[in-house]
Amino acid sequence: MGIVPMANAYVTAYAQSPGYVNSGPGVGLGSSGSSSTQKNSWDVSDIGEYPVDSGVSLDAWAYADTGGVAVTAMTVSDEVPEGCVQSTAMEVEDPIVADEAMYTYAALKSDIAELQKRYSGKLKVRSLVKTPDGRDVYELILGNEKAPTHILIEASIHAREYITTNLCMKQIEYLLYFYDDGCYDGKPLKTWFNDVCVHFVPMANPDGVSISQYGLSGLQSTALRSTVEKAYLDDVASGYTTLDMGTYLQRWKANARGVNLNQNFDAMFEFASGMATVPSSEDYRGPYAESEPETKALADLYDSRVWRAVLHYHAQGQILYWDIENNKMREHSRDLSNNIMLVTGYQKAVAGGGGGFKEYVQLCDRPAASVTVEMGAGTCPLPGSQMPTIWAQNKFVVLTAMKWAHDKFAGT
Ligand SMILES: [Zn+2]
Repeated sequence: MGIVPMANAYVTAYAQSPGYVNSGPGVGLGSSGSSSTQKNSWDVSDIGEYPVDSGVSLDAWAYADTGGVAVTAMTVSDEVPEGCVQSTAMEVEDPIVADEAMYTYAALKSDIAELQKRYSGKLKVRSLVKTPDGRDVYELILGNEKAPTHILIEASIHAREYITTNLCMKQIEYLLYFYDDGCYDGKPLKTWFNDVCVHFVPMANPDGVSISQYGLSGLQSTALRSTVEKAYLDDVASGYTTLDMGTYLQRWKANARGVNLNQNFDAMFEFASGMATVPSSEDYRGPYAESEPETKALADLYDSRVWRAVLHYHAQGQILYWDIENNKMREHSRDLSNNIMLVTGYQKAVAGGGGGFKEYVQLCDRPAASVTVEMGAGTCPLPGSQMPTIWAQNKFVVLTAMKWAHDKFAGT
């Protein structure tokens, strides 16, 4: 079981016999930067050297390599690529972004300010739009804005899925922390960020998030409170919900005007699956495409430049949606989703419907590869206790998308 000295940090992975059911993919790498730690002993077979910095999760790699055998133990070497002080297999020390049971708009604002202070000059922030209830939809930018390649990552367009914002903020801090002396795929992160600029919209629907977290008191506008109250009464009257109002509001998915923003884009809008014809917690697509300022702001951001990859974080299901009818970027979207599948261990799937941001990206005049990543398991809002698993699965997703976009499009 020797460690092969390579210009990278390597582990040797062991697998239990076929048929073993793993409790979840991706777990185990974590902060394993220490030397030769064997975590378990089993009747095992050596299945080879696993490249830590490849961006592929250990379990996903093992599954691909062994045809469905779960990895249960590993050893790790300290080899670090030349020119890199640290490996990205490490974790952030003394992080600003905490794993929150309920990641709020206030936490977002405060974390952005703290990150800008600690990582001076490395994180650019701008507001894309003011929401109907007066909040900012932020765009956070890492890397060289004049880079040839740009990718976009968006989260919490659905209110109750606010755990996706917590993940994106952790991804941002992770990249900032290793910006100067980390490396990925044998290349310093500084070089990566010179080549690829990464844009995040970590909370696309802050009004809706506030409703899901605080109920009616999460809204400042009395008119919008009335809209939301009326949506509840209408949904009760039509038999759409039997929930009490508190639970109904916790499961709110729309914006404060009762429009599902991910059915409001100008892309197969007529096929948006929403059944409701009036404002609702989740099933109203709006009076017309891009009627909502949040939707319009995302569409305008997208239209403002050429993008090479766009990821949409949703919860839940541990699934990747990558295709749509008449997808103009089918091959690229499939390829990108395959790479993300290897990192996360999530299954690929296809969904119908229309009016979503992914559909917009794949059907518009300047289309890009696009994947919806459904993280976590269970009923939304997901408990914060899922974050360690979600983090292990999604830690390398941004770097994977950066590398994919750069390899595919640099020089084109
Ligand atoms: Zn969603």
